[in-house]
Amino acid sequence: MGNIASNNNALIHDPSSYLIEKEPYYVAVGDEITLFEAAYASHLPVLLKGPTGCGKTRFMEYMAWKLQRPMITVSCHDDLTTSDLVGRYLVKGGETVWVDGPLTRAVRAGGICYLDEIVEARKDTMVVIHPLADDRRIMPIEKLGQLLEAPESFCLAISYNPGYQSVLKELKQSTRQRFIAIEFDYPKADLERRIIMHETGLDEATTNKLLKLADMTRNLKGNGLEEGASTRLLVHAGKLIARGVDQRAACQGAIALALTDDSDMIAAINELIGALF
Ligand code: ADP
Repeated sequence: MGNIASNNNALIHDPSSYLIEKEPYYVAVGDEITLFEAAYASHLPVLLKGPTGCGKTRFMEYMAWKLQRPMITVSCHDDLTTSDLVGRYLVKGGETVWVDGPLTRAVRAGGICYLDEIVEARKDTMVVIHPLADDRRIMPIEKLGQLLEAPESFCLAISYNPGYQSVLKELKQSTRQRFIAIEFDYPKADLERRIIMHETGLDEATTNKLLKLADMTRNLKGNGLEEGASTRLLVHAGKLIARGVDQRAACQGAIALALTDDSDMIAAINELIGALF
C-alpha cells in the first residue's frame, strides 16, 4: 500500500506514493468513522486507544483512503529520536544533504502522519509533536531554522494500548489532553466473524471455533496472559488453516505460541485448542 515510511528516494519526494488507491477492507465497529471525520474537519489530532491487533491500523488506512490523503506510518520504538521523525543531515556522495523525516514529509504533503504505539518512543521525542497537536499546528525544524505551518489537510494520529500496565508505558497528560480519543476493542462476535471470513476465506463453522478460542484466551487476560488473542492472531490462524495446515498446529503456532512464552500457559491454551478443534 506504499504507506510505510521508507528511505527510498522516490517515495520521499513523491507524496502521492503514500496515497492508498484501493479501498481497504474495513468493517466499522461503532461511530469511529464519523468521529474521525469530524475531528479531521476541525483540525484536531486523534488518539486511537485499544489493544494490539484490533483494527486501528486498518481503520487509519481506510480513513486515509476515504479522505484521499497520503498517509505515512511510523512504528514507534524505544530508540525513536526527534531526528528520526523530523529529519537530519546525511552525507550523500560527499555532500551534506538534509533529508526530511516522516513527520516533516507528512506535514509538507498535507497528509496523515500515523504514529503507531506512541508510548514506545523516547519520552523527549514526544515533545516534538506537541506544537503540531494543539491549535498552533506548527512544527519547528531547529536544524534548518524553519517553522513549518501544517496545511489544513494535515492530520496527526497516534495509537496507544492502555492495556500494558506499566507506568513507563503511560501517555503523559500533557500529550493525551491534546487529542480526540477514539476507543477500539476487538469487534463484536458477528463483526469479527465477518472480518475473519473475509480476510481468510475460512468457512463459518471453523471461524466460529476460532472465535470461541479467542473468547477463552481473552478471559485469561490478567490471569496469566497479558493480552488475549487479537483479531490479527485469529486472521493469522485462519490464513494457515485456509492453506491446509492442520487446525491445531495452526492455532498453536498463530495463537498459543504467539501469545506467551510461559510453558504452563501454552499447555493450557493448547488444551483449549484440543477441545475445540
Ligand atoms: P492494530 O493496528 O490495532 O494493531 P490492525 O489494524 O493491524 O491492528 O488489525 C489486525 C488485522 O485484523 C487487520 O489486518 C485485519 O485483517 C483485521 N481487522 C481488525 N479489525 C478489523 C476491522 N474492523 N475491519 C477489517 N479488518 C479488521
